[in-house]
Amino acid sequence: MSELPVVVIGAGPQGLAVAAHLTDRGNDVIVVERGAGPAAAVSEWGHVRLFSGWPELTDTAARRLLEPTGWTAPPSGYPTGAEWVDQYLAPLAQALGERVRYSTTVTGVSRKGRDRLVDSGRNAQPFVVHTLDAGGEDGRISARAVVDASGTWSLPNPAGADGLPAVGEKRAASQISYRIPQEVSGYAGQHLVVIGSGHSAAHAALRLSELVRRRPDTTVTWLMRRRTTAHVAGGAADELPERAALGSRAQKVVASGLVGVVTGFRVAEFRHEEGALTIAAENREQVTGVSQVFALTGFRPDVSILSELRLSLDASLEAVAGIAAEIDPNIHSCGSVGATGARELIQPEEGFFIVGAKSYGRAPTFLALTGFEQARSVAAHLAGDEEAAESRQLVLPDTGVCGGSGDFDAGTGGSCCAAPVLQLGVARERLGAAHERIELSASHTDQPVSLTDSTLTGSHS
Ligand SMILES: Cc1cc2nc3c(=O)[nH]c(=O)nc-3n(C[C@H](O)[C@H](O)[C@H](O)COP(=O)(O)OP(=O)(O)OC[C@H]3O[C@@H](n4cnc5c(N)ncnc54)[C@H](O)[C@@H]3O)c2cc1C
Repeated sequence: MSELPVVVIGAGPQGLAVAAHLTDRGNDVIVVERGAGPAAAVSEWGHVRLFSGWPELTDTAARRLLEPTGWTAPPSGYPTGAEWVDQYLAPLAQALGERVRYSTTVTGVSRKGRDRLVDSGRNAQPFVVHTLDAGGEDGRISARAVVDASGTWSLPNPAGADGLPAVGEKRAASQISYRIPQEVSGYAGQHLVVIGSGHSAAHAALRLSELVRRRPDTTVTWLMRRRTTAHVAGGAADELPERAALGSRAQKVVASGLVGVVTGFRVAEFRHEEGALTIAAENREQVTGVSQVFALTGFRPDVSILSELRLSLDASLEAVAGIAAEIDPNIHSCGSVGATGARELIQPEEGFFIVGAKSYGRAPTFLALTGFEQARSVAAHLAGDEEAAESRQLVLPDTGVCGGSGDFDAGTGGSCCAAPVLQLGVARERLGAAHERIELSASHTDQPVSLTDSTLTGSHS
């Protein structure tokens, strides 16, 4: 079996890093990528500027592979996703050459001749990676080990507050986007809604606030599931300055009234009324007259391709079980996360690893730096260098985001580090136009009434 390659699923930043480390160590590797080119997921959010600077966005083995080609590492600055691809990921994929196969989707991974049930001789059998190419042809690749670096981008969470699509969410699909908008001019004069409270939602709110500045007849309403805005971004407590700045900018556009916020809004239903969307919450609050929704509520891993493997995933996060305690937003107070490697990422299925964004499952704090350390350690393990696999060569910055899901029902931030993005009561009079579009359905008859203080202070439930 040792003559077989390691197969890596996904030519994103992390899959390419694993391939660079294995190549660096003289191990055979094949990277299978669904997209027509490298880093297809990053390319889809290419218009978004990263909050990590260049020194945090390139991997050590990748740099060793690239430098002989004349490539030089960009010394500083914060690239967009597109610049990350053009100036680093695409050259890296090119340096890896034919090791990367594009337009090929991994549809499943199994053990040769054995489904998940069979113990007998299991670990002596190679993996069989099932693929489907762009022409519809099935393929099979035998592998001595498999590293799943397929990310979570393909499975955005729905808008429904309970993790399942809200009533009418699928029917309203043409008016709901699960991506950060790029070109927003076409929405001028409309009522736009952002759902979510992570960094992507903050990006979207900022982008749309620029449109409101240019076209004040545009309304932007930002709906958050929790009863406080304290968790939106780490602000000054965030050790990544650009991510902290994102939080501060979000604070400013909300405080200035360019974007109206409704907290404690747990999306239950989308309805078409009078040519527009009405969004109803579990407690019957409503936001009416909506043209377009940006549901940015996080991602979840696609584990369907792993159904014939023996996995140990955390019951709530769907993260690799060995790292879940480290990254669980329910118990994490201030977002500081330790580095993880092969030891923590180990699975019951010998020779199989999940790395990168997918290793975090639904947890929102993944950083490229974390993944590069995982890639280094897992590649060392697969190459038989246990000393290198066991060493940890990274200290991760603090996110500054308090409480995670731990304060899900709390009415105030109240915890360790970040100040609330906005004191909603204070901002009430500044919300302006957004007020007119936000209505409460106060009774079971669904009769809308005007926005009240209770909505703004988040104490209405
Ligand atoms: C908008 C946005 C901004 C971000 N900003 C930052 C930042 O500033 N700093 C930071 O550190 N991190 C940031 N991140 C986190 C970021 O996701 C990671 O740093 C990085 O992109 C994750 O890399 P990955 O390789 O694990 O996953 P991905 O980038 O998602 O790559 C996975 C690859 O696998 C491929 N694939 C998926 N399924 C299959 C399949 N079945 N078969 C074959 N191929 C498949 C995909 O096409 C994709 O190319 C950001 C994420 C987003 C969404």
